[in-house]
Amino acid sequence: MSDSPLDDSPLQTVKLSLDDTIQFRCHKEIACFNECCKRIDITLTPYDILRLKKRFGLTSNEFLAQYTLPYEMDGDGMPGVKIKTADDNPACPFLSEEGCSVYEDRPTVCRYYALGLMSMRHENSSTDEDTYFLIKEDHCLGHNEPRTITVRDYRKEQVVDQYDEMNREWRQIILKKRSAGPTIGKPTPRSFQFFFMGSYNLDGVRDFVLSDGFSDVYDLDAATVEQLKTDEVALLKFSFKLLKQVLFGENTIPVKGDAMQKRVQRRREQVKAEPDNPNKDYAGPEMV
Ligand code: SF4
Ligand code: SF4
Repeated sequence: MSDSPLDDSPLQTVKLSLDDTIQFRCHKEIACFNECCKRIDITLTPYDILRLKKRFGLTSNEFLAQYTLPYEMDGDGMPGVKIKTADDNPACPFLSEEGCSVYEDRPTVCRYYALGLMSMRHENSSTDEDTYFLIKEDHCLGHNEPRTITVRDYRKEQVVDQYDEMNREWRQIILKKRSAGPTIGKPTPRSFQFFFMGSYNLDGVRDFVLSDGFSDVYDLDAATVEQLKTDEVALLKFSFKLLKQVLFGENTIPVKGDAMQKRVQRRREQVKAEPDNPNKDYAGPEMV
């Protein structure tokens, strides 16, 4: 199973819209059962990670270390993560004799298979257009099963709505970051670090959002703060807003009027507490 992009994929692909019909069915009795999970190349989305780490009761860092490998999603070095496989075995670590051991929380790519999804935004358009494509791999016998279904109904069957909702906003951030061009400038390593945390390290986002430094700058009401402490879906949606604000300067989260002053004051106190710091008597903007 792979999430190879359409253009350079060796797979047989056919573009589809929601009302197009495919012939496909996957089930436990099929002769190729589990074949697709024995050699994987699966990119995880932030919502995939949220679901899986929750399933295993792991922190973000524990899940990332145990089950994922970082990689660069493009030539600029945009950070992505994939499911990690053993050095000598390309099978998915979640594969069991009975099939997928994380089925209720399986990643987006697995839900869609044997469909793939591509989102594109045309010039002069403010919305993305989703295009689906059928992936036909030789080992997959599901295409020979006598069941036809529309793309729309297949999506329903695989319960992809919540995944799509969360993934859409994240993909828009990626597209925007890639097309930032000269107005925003080439992405910096620091912006990629922030993108990594905001996308994949939800516990890091929570710590950041609940820190004194954050509340000095951002104006969140008490109910929102409480929700962000306990509701990870709300936290991830908030994280996407934060990414847009920090990476693109969008006004997605209210900022306090005296934010800069407070940050300078906090930094000044921190520096004074470090007697060896040569800047201890200075709290200029570059230190903020
Ligand atoms: S997560 Fe489940 S469905 Fe996806 S590749 Fe792994 S075992 Fe297969
Ligand atoms: S039918 Fe295709 S998707 Fe289903 S188990 Fe076989 S190879 Fe995997």
